[in-house]
Amino acid sequence: MAKVTGALLMARSLKQQGVEYMFGVVGFPVQPIAAAAIEVGITYIGMRNEQSASYAAQAVGYMTGRPGACLVVSGPGVVHGLAGLANAKENCWPMILIGGASPTYQNGMGAFQEERQVQIASPFCKYAHAVEHVYRIPFYVEQAVRHSIYGRPGAVYLDMPDDIIQGEIEESEAVVVANIPEPPRSQAPQENIEAALDALEGAENPLVIVGKGMAWSRAEDEVRAFVERTQLPFLASPMGKGVIDDNHPLSVGAARSHALKEADVIFLMGARLNWIMHFGSKPRFKEGVKIIQLDISHEAIGNNQPTAVPLVGDGKAITGQLNQALENRQWFYPGDTAWRSALKEKADANAAQIQPMIDDNSSPTNYYRALKDIREAMTEDTIIIGEGANTMDIGRTQLPNASPRLRLDAGSYGTMGIGMGFAIAAAVVHRDKPVVSVSGDSALGFSGMEIETACRHKLPIKIVVLNNGGIGRGIDEFPKDEQLPAHVLTIAARYDLMMEAFGGKGFYVEDPADLKQALADAKAFDGPALVNVRLHAAAGRKPQQFGWLTT
Ligand code: ADP
Ligand code: MG
Repeated sequence: MAKVTGALLMARSLKQQGVEYMFGVVGFPVQPIAAAAIEVGITYIGMRNEQSASYAAQAVGYMTGRPGACLVVSGPGVVHGLAGLANAKENCWPMILIGGASPTYQNGMGAFQEERQVQIASPFCKYAHAVEHVYRIPFYVEQAVRHSIYGRPGAVYLDMPDDIIQGEIEESEAVVVANIPEPPRSQAPQENIEAALDALEGAENPLVIVGKGMAWSRAEDEVRAFVERTQLPFLASPMGKGVIDDNHPLSVGAARSHALKEADVIFLMGARLNWIMHFGSKPRFKEGVKIIQLDISHEAIGNNQPTAVPLVGDGKAITGQLNQALENRQWFYPGDTAWRSALKEKADANAAQIQPMIDDNSSPTNYYRALKDIREAMTEDTIIIGEGANTMDIGRTQLPNASPRLRLDAGSYGTMGIGMGFAIAAAVVHRDKPVVSVSGDSALGFSGMEIETACRHKLPIKIVVLNNGGIGRGIDEFPKDEQLPAHVLTIAARYDLMMEAFGGKGFYVEDPADLKQALADAKAFDGPALVNVRLHAAAGRKPQQFGWLTT
């Protein structure tokens, strides 16, 4: 009879359940799992820090619909990986963290890197378990992968002690499990479908908000059909961008604040009224605004604001139901309302307000001017990654997405440092698509060593650093003998040379007049490239009506 090790059984079980990508940092005791993963045909990317590996695994989960795996060593490896678990939990993205653990027979003895790993992973996970027998590995992998993608997606954790990884059983002793089918799609009761349409019909200032739950459920065809059939104005959440083309005539993204503030009926589709949406409360929202809420999670209904009409279930299935029900109605939202004109007026005013910054050719440059060239250098199928406070916020408004799941950013948890992991994941999953990460200088710093990973694996990601020499903003000159302010970083630091150091191509842009050419050269280079754009130290956003994080 053939023998099989725990490591090989783990790799085979992952492969069986459709886990195609693994990111990790090897060492004791997980090295054999990485080797086995490569042996069974899982794409393995060796990263430089577990944080980035765990970010990459969840980006794979969001982009492909099956969790990516993150493989980490015991103790500190698992602790670093927690960063990704927390981010995956907040974003509702699937990933599986596989933590090596000290041998079970040394539990409690102060073993090398001994840690209570299942306990510390649990608050971030839908499912966290230690594997206690080699023959049950397929059972645990099936449970973990299923929990990660069924219902509201999220993170899961499996603990693999050294003696389980190295343990051997007869192949025939392993538990046999079924392949996990795609998540079942549940519908909403018909009466709620009709109630939702009635509420929209009765609205004076209706608004649709499309979130990344709709991108996850692959509801783009249904959502576009719904918006076009009803002619309702819509806006997208940061990563809901592209479910419908940002340049769609019904998009009111350019009048976001006004749309949120004055809408009387809001149809929340796979999005949450959390801090990004100002909790749905006044003065950012109208008092008493009627909320129609589509979400896969029962517990999410009514969070922060009461829900007038709940639509609990799968985004694609329920939007399909709405479209079907619309076949029996004549109604659509008319083209000539005061609401539409007000939104248009506001969008035009906002555009006029930023135009001078876009047209400003002074050097060093500002965000809007830099993003103009970046936008022009991008094709519609580009996967755009954004991080860094201003870089991300302004980038969100200036870099349009035409298709779903092509924008990845700091997301619901506001995590800086996700960029390199996300870019690497995007390049591995979508070998046919350009990947551009637009990052602040501070944000890049969290995971900058992964530039080496991109170079080693020959992943042709393009990184653009909008470099203001600081967190939030920089300073023009370093003070002589004084304590440095907390937010400053090196002025005009040469991140482009980091890229060169590992074999990629770096460009340094001082004058915006040179940016177009640098971007073109970076694009033409067949490998990773970094364009380091010096920004004015005081560059900022256009003036906002409300301060950051106001409720
Ligand atoms: P955004 O940041 O785009 O607003 P959030 O992550 O805050 O998005 O919210 C996404 C919502 O989508 C979550 O509440 C989640 O439960 C929900 N969701 C996840 N999967 C589905 C699905 N298949 N159908 C409908 N809603 C979903
Ligand atoms: Mg900065």
